[in-house]
Amino acid sequence: MPELLLHQALIVDGSGATPAWRGDLLLRGDRIAALGTELHRELDASLPRRDCTGMVLAPGFIDAHSHDDAALITTPEMRPKLSQGVCTVVTGNCGISLLPLLSSEPPPPLNLLAREQFRYPSFTAWRAAVQAAQPAVNALALVGHTALRLRCVSELGRAATAAERATMCALLDQALAEGAMGLSSGTFYAPAAAADATELLALARVAARHGGVYAVHLRDEMAGVMAAIQEAADCAHKAGLPLVISHHKCAGRKQWGHSLQTLALIERLAERQALGLDVYPYLAGSTVLREDLADGLTPIRLTWSEAHPELAGRWLQDIASDWACSEPEAVARLQPGGACYFQMQEEDVSRILAHPLTMIGSDGLPHDRFPHPRLWGAFPRVWAHYGRERGLLSLEQAVHKMSGLTAQRFGLKDRGVLRAGAAADLVLFDPERFTDRADYAQPTLPAIGLEAVWVNGQAAWERGRPLARAGRVLSRE
Ligand SMILES: [Zn+2]
Repeated sequence: MPELLLHQALIVDGSGATPAWRGDLLLRGDRIAALGTELHRELDASLPRRDCTGMVLAPGFIDAHSHDDAALITTPEMRPKLSQGVCTVVTGNCGISLLPLLSSEPPPPLNLLAREQFRYPSFTAWRAAVQAAQPAVNALALVGHTALRLRCVSELGRAATAAERATMCALLDQALAEGAMGLSSGTFYAPAAAADATELLALARVAARHGGVYAVHLRDEMAGVMAAIQEAADCAHKAGLPLVISHHKCAGRKQWGHSLQTLALIERLAERQALGLDVYPYLAGSTVLREDLADGLTPIRLTWSEAHPELAGRWLQDIASDWACSEPEAVARLQPGGACYFQMQEEDVSRILAHPLTMIGSDGLPHDRFPHPRLWGAFPRVWAHYGRERGLLSLEQAVHKMSGLTAQRFGLKDRGVLRAGAAADLVLFDPERFTDRADYAQPTLPAIGLEAVWVNGQAAWERGRPLARAGRVLSRE
């Protein structure tokens, strides 16, 4: 088996508990074989080795919140993620998953995923397509409630009937038995909003039986955020499974500062149930175009439009003014499409990011023509901006939120940490230089300061150059 000694690195093990230490790591096959301070002296001098002086060696990052279900198949190089040091993505968030929906015209928000890819009736079919594409990063899949609903519920404006619930539960049960890791929902969006507590609880119970997690895009992230947190938590508590509150935020000017209350509620709930949250380190959200979000107060920047692809990247206000119409009217003419919504406040984002229950999820939208910069920049930005620059997070904390904490939350036992026997997903970066460059004006600029990435023991990235594509579809261990 191939071996490589990475020596004299600053080792940040992802646990969040061990202070960074200078040492060596021996990689053998797809595993970490050993860690120590003196391996470079003890081991055979002929062993291939790499001097990592001045570099941080950390577990490959895990993107807790991705929409990469189709990207893994259509763009298996996975450059936006690999170039940030991400070795594993969690797919199927916000109720939006490819499986098990069969459709050539998926409605919003499912059209955030490449639309011609809704052709996998089961987890096994999706996994086979991913494996055939051989992506550069690992994936673990959640099954989206909205996808289940679109496949099984005949009238989307009402809750599922008992018979429809049973069909959805059977499909979910099958997907989990085949290797999916949990359930997600997004009752914020129309095709899912009519779901009642009975429908969601029935599905959450199926996920609980398989030891899965339940990730929730809350029904309301604005004025009704407290009730929405309570609703999601009650469902997960009754079903008996861990809850992940997705991309937590207090959106809209009137809600600014409310993270004091939301986090206090989340802490109280965490005393009775397993619970975590993810966040992306930006002040703008991004999703499909919605007239109700064009409130005249929120700056909105177009990320894609099927009717007017040439306008991607422009401000909605300018488009509306060019067309001499209101912003909601402009939205209607641009549909279907997506946008960045500048809805959040720095104090809230910082407070949520620093919270010990919070892990990092990019929420990147890989098919947008002019995407939110989180797609290419979320992970380096956590360290560069909130760690190194502002001192909000230590290096150990930042790495933990991007690896060990996420692995724990999603039940990945041998990833997210550096220890002998664990999978060799590794990232090597220069702590002084590792920085995001993507911004709202140039959203696809790759990060700098990333030295190398290994996925399942194989060299996957070397100073801006992609190498082996060694990702796997992960199942519960
Ligand atoms: Zn979402």
